[in-house]
Amino acid sequence: MDGHSSCGKSTMAKKLAAATGYTYIDTGAMYRAVTLFCLENGLIGSNGIDTVELERCLPDLNISFGKDDEGRQFTMLNGRNVEREIRGMEVSSNVSPVSALPFVREAMVAQQRIMGGKGAVIMDGRDIGTTVFPDAELKIFVTARDDVRAQRRYDEMRQKGDNPVYEDVLENVRQRDYIDSHRDVSPLRQAPDAIVLDNSDMTMAEQDEWLMRHYLAAVKE
Ligand code: C5P
Repeated sequence: MDGHSSCGKSTMAKKLAAATGYTYIDTGAMYRAVTLFCLENGLIGSNGIDTVELERCLPDLNISFGKDDEGRQFTMLNGRNVEREIRGMEVSSNVSPVSALPFVREAMVAQQRIMGGKGAVIMDGRDIGTTVFPDAELKIFVTARDDVRAQRRYDEMRQKGDNPVYEDVLENVRQRDYIDSHRDVSPLRQAPDAIVLDNSDMTMAEQDEWLMRHYLAAVKE
């Protein structure tokens, strides 16, 4: 599943994984974890990203996923649960430039191919259907209007106890869309054989039904 920021890909992917028993892999969380590492280690400053140091450190970064007692997935960076930190505005504001770096993409894509190599996975991101698994059996490209996406993200952050400014969230959504779609390596693109889902005006129930219908059709093939 690929698509724009904050259009509900991960919610959809998690639900489908729970319904099918497949493993869910959140590739955005991996790029967010690299970004958190950069921020925590002073590799992002007013002059941009210290790419030399990041490239040196990257092979030693251990990004993995765990599950809590209620079955909720969380992201780990070098053995530490960083799920909350990677969802904040600071990481969101810096993740697109970090994930545009070719050596970062190369390292993450290699890990994603290993994680998904045995099949039965639902992976969400920006380049899964175009670069990571171009032969995937089902490709879905999810989108929604940017104001709708910003509102959803804003509500989600408020629910978690944060106090974001709506205009900042909207600006972040727009900026990430722009950088993700215009970078040189693996830009966000709809794969030619992907099915498009615009969920701007869909209820959750409609979306669930849509997804299950396409999943079942793909399995039948
Ligand atoms: O999916 P999420 O919004 O958490 O992704 C965060 C950022 O990570 C995206 O805006 C994009 O810059 C980057 N990303 C990427 N390729 C992926 C997944 C995410 O470049 N496969």
